[in-house]
Amino acid sequence: MKTTKRIAVLLAAFIAGASILCAQGMNEQRETIYASASDASPKYVFMFIGDGMSAPQTNAAQVFEGTNVSGKVAIEPLTFTQFPVVGLQYTQDSTSFCPDSASTATSLSSGFKTHSGVIGMGVDKVTAGETIAEKVKEQLGWKVGIISTVTINHATPAAYYAHIANRNDYYDIGLQMAESGFDFFGGGSVNKADDGDKSIYQVLEDNGYLVTNDYDTILSLNGKSGKVYAYSPVLQDDGAMPYAIDATEGQLSLADFVKKGIEVLDNDSGFFMMVESGKIDWAGHANDAVANIHDTLAFDEAIEVALQFANQHPGETLIVVTGDHETGGMTIGYAATGYDTAFDILRAQKCSYVAFDEMVSAEKAAGTLTFDRLMEMVEENFGLTAPGTENEVPALVLNDYEYARLQKAFEDDMAGNTEGYEESLLYGGYNAISVTLTHIINNKAGIGWTSYAHTGLPVPVYAYGEGAELFVGAYDNTEVAHKLFDLCNVD
Ligand SMILES: [Zn+2]
Repeated sequence: MKTTKRIAVLLAAFIAGASILCAQGMNEQRETIYASASDASPKYVFMFIGDGMSAPQTNAAQVFEGTNVSGKVAIEPLTFTQFPVVGLQYTQDSTSFCPDSASTATSLSSGFKTHSGVIGMGVDKVTAGETIAEKVKEQLGWKVGIISTVTINHATPAAYYAHIANRNDYYDIGLQMAESGFDFFGGGSVNKADDGDKSIYQVLEDNGYLVTNDYDTILSLNGKSGKVYAYSPVLQDDGAMPYAIDATEGQLSLADFVKKGIEVLDNDSGFFMMVESGKIDWAGHANDAVANIHDTLAFDEAIEVALQFANQHPGETLIVVTGDHETGGMTIGYAATGYDTAFDILRAQKCSYVAFDEMVSAEKAAGTLTFDRLMEMVEENFGLTAPGTENEVPALVLNDYEYARLQKAFEDDMAGNTEGYEESLLYGGYNAISVTLTHIINNKAGIGWTSYAHTGLPVPVYAYGEGAELFVGAYDNTEVAHKLFDLCNVD
């Protein structure tokens, strides 16, 4: 063997040996960290899922609340981003690296992979699994609560009680919910509740649930209320709670539902509560950063309620906060703004794209929608004004390119020209006017979007309390469920 070749072989052997040693070192350190959590046994477990929420979404909220002044640039941390333990989970499912909520929530709740669109069943779409919520209820006698800003038979909440091959079978999912025996459902209504022989609400009542969407009744719920389905008196978007930015005074927030859920569930055996903020995802699909940010902030307020409970029950409470996948390919940074951001201008946006769609539709229906009328509505709701106009916030004056984009969107919307390839890239199937406006104001602020769908970005996991150490490191999303099984001592 030639000397050079011999050196190469020795070097390769050395590198292989070193990497084995490194892997051993990593495994040892991981085991040490895990061992410190092995005796943990929380009896109150909160699982918070920001649908479509990864690092860009949480940091956009932190930048929005922070300072953008040169020399003083700083984020304002959210409550959950300050949790002492942070991990990272990979979200691909058995169909795609850009997975959906049905499969990813199944992985988070039940610890196995499945296809996009499948809830609580394996890749064969036949074998049903068992969720952390079902396990703690059956094996430990804990109470269970499921809360979401969207409908409770939507994919993510459903992944905690349903086993079904198709996430769109809303009525059948609703039936499984009503038969789950879970103790508290709160937030959004039931989607397609009347699509079968009997209303899902009636089935719930037949099974002993108090079903209410009355504001005062909901605020008076407590540990003596029995099993409850409480949904928001005000609904938007197919029965979901309204976007936080569209909420009016006296409306129930996600934090209110978490507070009431805790009061209904609190008992000496323990409880498991899953809380989803589902419209972070919907605002991500629609590329509306302002709606996205406000729902992330409302989600954080709901987590703060759980944190208060945890601090009253130290050593017994675990809070895990994560997302199921990222939505929209959101980025802080945009081609036209380079290294600059101006999140303060986002405050000029007064409503979600959904609320603005409704205003546009109303004007159209009345036959009063002209481009001039639209520009009045745009100034009122987005602060944006035509090129060359005076504006209190100069950054909100549209340049010629942006103005032309808006004119094209108006013309395309009026002519119904939204189906072509270019239009599918420009509008993603959303209202051409609203999505163009959110793109313009987002881009001006320094926010970019690459998709109207989910992306393959890994998702952070934040943990606080009893057993939190177990969530450190980078791992598959199925591990989240297995860590909970271990901590709760269920199998
Ligand atoms: Zn989605």
